[in-house]
Amino acid sequence: MEILIYVLLYTYIFVIGLFFGSFFNVVGIRVPLKESLMGRSHCPNCSKTLGALELFPIVGYLILKGKCKKCNTKISIKYPLMEFITGVLFLSSFVFVQYDMIEYILIVLFISLMVIVTVSDMYYQTIPNLFLIIFLPLIFALRILSPIEMWYDGIIGGVIGFGFMYLIALYGRFRYKQDALGGGDIKLYFIIGVVLGYQLVIISLFFSALFGLIYSMIIRKKEGYLPFVPFIFAGSMLTYFVGSGIIEWYVSILN
Ligand SMILES: [Zn+2]
Repeated sequence: MEILIYVLLYTYIFVIGLFFGSFFNVVGIRVPLKESLMGRSHCPNCSKTLGALELFPIVGYLILKGKCKKCNTKISIKYPLMEFITGVLFLSSFVFVQYDMIEYILIVLFISLMVIVTVSDMYYQTIPNLFLIIFLPLIFALRILSPIEMWYDGIIGGVIGFGFMYLIALYGRFRYKQDALGGGDIKLYFIIGVVLGYQLVIISLFFSALFGLIYSMIIRKKEGYLPFVPFIFAGSMLTYFVGSGIIEWYVSILN
């Protein structure tokens, strides 16, 4: 009986996450163009609007077999992928925080911000300030209410995250005479530092850089702009889940 309740609860959180992911796709794609969030999703090529069932996250994509019904234009796999990632992260962080509801709201807000800016970065190579301005005060306030250890750990984390990224950007400009990192990435890392605290933020920088490096060296086929936010997202989430374990392990081998 108890298992059934858990299955229902987890399924519910996952599906809620799918719908939020679907909404974040819309926000990340429309807000940078200053388009209204109202109005139904439509094919970018022929403007055919989606039917009720086709609006359902992931299921809609499968029903349409990844193509517009009217003009056959391919629908990007990014849509269902971002929906799925949001669902998985809403659920896995719920399990991870173990009923600490303030921490859960904080991490859900963080996941929401990261999905939105990942979408914006992939489509337009930009992180609109508006998103950072909306989410920063909320995440900051929640981190004070749900401190990592001391109440100021998040603030130090933010300063370190921002400072590190700023130095990397300065180095890139000096060394390669071009901007490797955008201002948005640097500001975003302030928020990541607030979420992770000063110890984990450093681990997340390592993971983000590692993922970006692996992708650009092994998987990437074409040259040009590489959106860095997807790697920052992956690096910071992985750190959120396993970072404390890494620190404990590191301390134990030193002793
Ligand atoms: Zn179409």
